[in-house]
Amino acid sequence: MKTMTCRQLGGPCDLAHQGETADDVINAQDRHLKEAVKAGDEAHIPAREDMKGRWKHPVKSMGWYRDMKKAFAELPED
Ligand SMILES: [Zn+2]
Repeated sequence: MKTMTCRQLGGPCDLAHQGETADDVINAQDRHLKEAVKAGDEAHIPAREDMKGRWKHPVKSMGWYRDMKKAFAELPED
């Protein structure tokens, strides 16, 4: 397992997500952003909008995924 924080994934807080793959932590971050915004946390709105934009424009967002996968690959195992 590896850990990536909300901040490392483009968000505003230090909540840690654990996963076996980069996709795991990206999905966890997506859920976290949705929940935070639903709970009225305005600090997470820009990151939520960015994430929504990525699902809509997957080709344009490949660079971001590549960066996240690279960052994840370079993390030490927990
Ligand atoms: Zn957060």
